[in-house]
Amino acid sequence: MNTPASQLIRGYEVVIGLETHAQLSTASKIFSGSSTQFGAAPNTQASPVDLALPGTLPVMNRGAVERAIQFGLAVGAKVAQHSIFARKNYFYPDLPKGYQISQYETPVVQGGAIEFFIGNTAHKVRLTRAHLEEDAGKSLHEDYAGQTGIDLNRAGTPLLEIVSEPDMRSSAEAAEYAKTLHALVVWLGICDGNMQEGSFRCDANVSVRKPGMPYGTRREIKNLNSFKFLQQAIDCEIQWQIDLIEDGGEVQQATVLFNPTANGGRGETRAMRTKEDAHDYRYFPDPDLPPLVISADWIEQVRTAMPELPQAMATRFQRDYGLPAYDALAVTQSKAHAAFFEAATALCKAPKLVANWMMGELARRLNAESLPIDASPVSAAVIAQLVTRIGDGTISNNGGKQVLEQLWAAGQLCEPPQPVDASFVDKAIDDLGLRQLSDTGELDQLLDDVLAANTKSVEEYRAGKEKAFNALVGQAMKATKGKANPAQVTELLKKKLG
Ligand code: ADP
Ligand code: MG
Repeated sequence: MNTPASQLIRGYEVVIGLETHAQLSTASKIFSGSSTQFGAAPNTQASPVDLALPGTLPVMNRGAVERAIQFGLAVGAKVAQHSIFARKNYFYPDLPKGYQISQYETPVVQGGAIEFFIGNTAHKVRLTRAHLEEDAGKSLHEDYAGQTGIDLNRAGTPLLEIVSEPDMRSSAEAAEYAKTLHALVVWLGICDGNMQEGSFRCDANVSVRKPGMPYGTRREIKNLNSFKFLQQAIDCEIQWQIDLIEDGGEVQQATVLFNPTANGGRGETRAMRTKEDAHDYRYFPDPDLPPLVISADWIEQVRTAMPELPQAMATRFQRDYGLPAYDALAVTQSKAHAAFFEAATALCKAPKLVANWMMGELARRLNAESLPIDASPVSAAVIAQLVTRIGDGTISNNGGKQVLEQLWAAGQLCEPPQPVDASFVDKAIDDLGLRQLSDTGELDQLLDDVLAANTKSVEEYRAGKEKAFNALVGQAMKATKGKANPAQVTELLKKKLG
């Protein structure tokens, strides 16, 4: 394993392990037929099974198992052909059965790893396990003064809980791990990845130690639903733990919540419960569910139907399109990115330039407006046409940026925003007067004028001063108001002087 040297913070090494809940994208719940659709009126998607009415029994959703198998195969894990559902007992108003059905000793996915780059450094985080379980309901406090409402629509929603080994050594590494994991489950289509709706949420286990010492005691930050909060929360927690230890204290194992607005916006992690009142879940195998048996045939069927994985696609893009590793990773960050890249490249046959535009101008604009690439007002065909027009010398690279600016705005004027047609590239070039002077007749005359007006530079050049030539090119570009192709100007000037 390529373990990057960990950076110390105030002389301490940081140790992080993540537990991630990914909501699986099945239409119905894990043990009942109710819909998993987000946003319905409270309790309209809660069947007798979800309500835990007496006499009801859970029935396993095959689609949830299939998604767990997909995940296991994608991370190189062992998919257990025999796994067990267990009852995790605790009392809470949003858990009508009084227990959550989960997997404990024998999870469906065992081992595997998530790999990613930070800069040029390869990171590999081992996975302990991933298990299937049901989500609980929701307590609603806001609309009920002095009371709490219970919405059981979410009860029984299928979750895959993905547990990492304590392999991460910085908050940045934890955030990158989470992003890679998120991109993978979305790519596979097993989770919609919507973090605002809670479809993908992380618990971060954090401890610190002096280098060479055994692991320190961890605290677990619950329910982080953005990569930014994940990183901020871990950073706060690290400082809190080091402060405590430096003051002679000892970290007590605890579950904490992150409040990003506390401390004048610097954030705070506050204990929810400590080890003393930690739950004793009294796990035992659920007698209502038989062991989950997955045949080797089923695993093979799922393997055959799997899409090409992001890393395999990035390797293929390096090989087939000659992209540098960094670019290949960037354009395979999602299926939509890959589709955009391939569509544009097929049209203009300039993969590296397409990647440059995607990673530069386009990414900047999409990020600024939080738009996914498949909602870009500028289509792959437009990028291809831009790249073509820069390549054939019609416009400069700078001119290309102005065209993009214009077409981006035009695309957004449509309601709903719509990608503009590629033919608008040429129209925008003319409207903006960006066409470079390639008509040699006109350029010829301009260059003659420049030479006539700069006789001193001409003499110097003829006397062997190379610098004088650059001065002439500069004058020529100025005279053409930057609309000439520098390569063409250089060539024509050489001819005239030679
Ligand atoms: P639990 O289920 O009680 O939270 P686990 O042993 O399953 O306990 O560990 C949960 C997570 O905590 C895992 O992701 C693991 O990597 C991480 N972890 C375990 N020990 C440490 C530690 N000393 N520091 C940081 N993370 C840890
Ligand atoms: Mg935990």
